[in-house]
Amino acid sequence: MGRRDGNQDVTLGDPRLRSTMMRKCDYCGERAGLFGRVCGDCKKLLARVEELRGKVSYGGFLDGLEQTGIDKEKILVFLKADPDGKGSVQDQVTAEMTSELMKVMGISGRQSADEVRRIRNVLGKDSEE
Ligand SMILES: [Zn+2]
Repeated sequence: MGRRDGNQDVTLGDPRLRSTMMRKCDYCGERAGLFGRVCGDCKKLLARVEELRGKVSYGGFLDGLEQTGIDKEKILVFLKADPDGKGSVQDQVTAEMTSELMKVMGISGRQSADEVRRIRNVLGKDSEE
């Protein structure tokens, strides 16, 4: 039995190294996997958001997200995440819906952030948040 240094395998098997390589999901904070910024579930949700936005009401939007089979809790975390600092998914979608709504109601012109917030409060009333 020759003495081996014993350090040769450390880099491959070091759990600390592996955990630094495992990134957290930008949206839900769960492990996203190697080099991923977004976990599988949130990727699915993002794809669904793209499908649904502009086509459904807010309620329909939530239903559509739930149809992915992902936990509602997780969907809510996802909606409130703001990884790019551009506003959460929820706020972005609500802002889009608000402009649609205003077009429908015949209100022209730009909406102020205050107005978005006001309308969001109104919209938010039917979801128990
Ligand atoms: Zn995630």
